Amino acid sequence: MKRSRMRKRSKKMEEFYDKVRRPAVAEAVGQGRNPCQIKSPMCSLYVEGIHEKLSRGRGGGIRTVHYEENLVPCCHRCNEYVSSHPAWAEKEGWLLKGGPHANNKQE
Ligand SMILES: [Zn+2]
Repeated sequence: MKRSRMRKRSKKMEEFYDKVRRPAVAEAVGQGRNPCQIKSPMCSLYVEGIHEKLSRGRGGGIRTVHYEENLVPCCHRCNEYVSSHPAWAEKEGWLLKGGPHANNKQE
């Protein structure tokens, strides 16, 4: 089950990335010595970006997902690992089954 990545961003999205997303990532990455929070089997140890537990595709809305408790500073490999191992990620608490619509789908 592959989800196609966003191909192009709308103006709004660009703005969101410039004003919210990039600074948040920059802060999470810091000096490049912050330990990755996810620590998957593929982990490369240091924070390189931010994973969202409740992704836009799942939860909908770029702003609603950009809350601190939804953000996990992690390395790129873990981010990828989470995407490619959703069952694992859900078990470990790195992926939330999204939003009001998805709650009653699976136990
Ligand atoms: Zn990692």
